[in-house]
Amino acid sequence: MHQHVQRRPRRTVRRTALRTVATGLAVGLLGTTATALPATARPPSVTAPASAADCRLPAAVDGLGSGFPVDEQGLPAVGTLKAAQLFVDFEDHPAPAGSLDEAEANLASGVEYLEQVSGGRLDVETTASDGWVRMPEPSTAYPFERGLTYEDHVRYIGDAIAAADATFDFSDVDVVWVSATKQAQNITYSPTTNYLDVTADGNHLTHAVTFGYDQWRWGGLVLAHETGHSLGLPDLYLFEAPPEDPGNWHAAVGGWDLMGLISGQGPEYLGWHRWQLGWLDDEQVVCAEPGRTTTARLSPVAESGEPRPGRDTMLVHPVSATRAVVVENRQPLGYDQGIAARGALVYTVDASVPSGHGPVRVVDSTPGSSDGLDDAPFAPGTSWTEPTTGAELTFREGPAGTVAVALNP
Ligand SMILES: [Zn+2]
Repeated sequence: MHQHVQRRPRRTVRRTALRTVATGLAVGLLGTTATALPATARPPSVTAPASAADCRLPAAVDGLGSGFPVDEQGLPAVGTLKAAQLFVDFEDHPAPAGSLDEAEANLASGVEYLEQVSGGRLDVETTASDGWVRMPEPSTAYPFERGLTYEDHVRYIGDAIAAADATFDFSDVDVVWVSATKQAQNITYSPTTNYLDVTADGNHLTHAVTFGYDQWRWGGLVLAHETGHSLGLPDLYLFEAPPEDPGNWHAAVGGWDLMGLISGQGPEYLGWHRWQLGWLDDEQVVCAEPGRTTTARLSPVAESGEPRPGRDTMLVHPVSATRAVVVENRQPLGYDQGIAARGALVYTVDASVPSGHGPVRVVDSTPGSSDGLDDAPFAPGTSWTEPTTGAELTFREGPAGTVAVALNP
């Protein structure tokens, strides 16, 4: 359970004053986005499901959340992401000779994750500093252990950029990654900001992640988690544990998504996250039409990058203006190799719930079991009734690792 305590500080450090000012305007505008979505030219048919666009819940929070589109401050998730990777050390914690390779290797698996899970739609182009960059101040000048503010964080990032600037070209950089030497254990954790405000080589830099000592516990997937924030994804673990389940910061999604638990058994991104980021085609999403029976044949989420005719990745059942129930198929493939239970993973998405407050909640097929959400997927032959609409979802085994799901209103 120690990891729960350690994960809590990993939230986006941001300027709260700026965000507060923007709230009213952003929510007002976002409330109208549903009508602005392009209509899909699908001919009307008795059996055709609704257009996938009908299931894109409009964002109803300011900042990171689970609606469409992702937060306006998110970087494009399709195309090339150009990252400046600065390895920094300090006069009180100089990096030992030969330690650069180890530092570089530790985070490389996060880049691999992003490229694989995106199905190749995101290409991460990393340019590393030429050796260790010496920070202008000792590590103790940056209060990671004493309550890091937005100002402290951007000062740390700004110092790293200034120290590297003479030998590093920032003119074409989207995101700055600052990785501290393993010696500086007091640079404890790895926060993200999407509100940097530093200009270098004529480029206004807005996005950064700083990697601290916890990267040695999480491994490279911490880079993929934090980059999720850079791209606009919310945290799916809970900033406050539920009163009825004290200490369980993972009561919402357990280990079923990288934005929920980096060390989880199934850290593939949820299908919904892939859709938010543009890593799923609308053709891979079956949107249930109200009052109609809807069926889908779901391929494993880990294979969403290889769409196949007649196979879907998600079934979405909207239950209100801001909420939907999603069904996807989780099998022990890709980053899901360690899952304890396979089958239909059912979760609710609420576009009105902000990051860290449970915008996604997994439905446990075995509530009360000692395994928590590890055994949440529904096995073939089972069913579940959605409590607000009364729709019944039934799950059957399909060929080649697929799950056949039927929704009956
Ligand atoms: Zn996070």
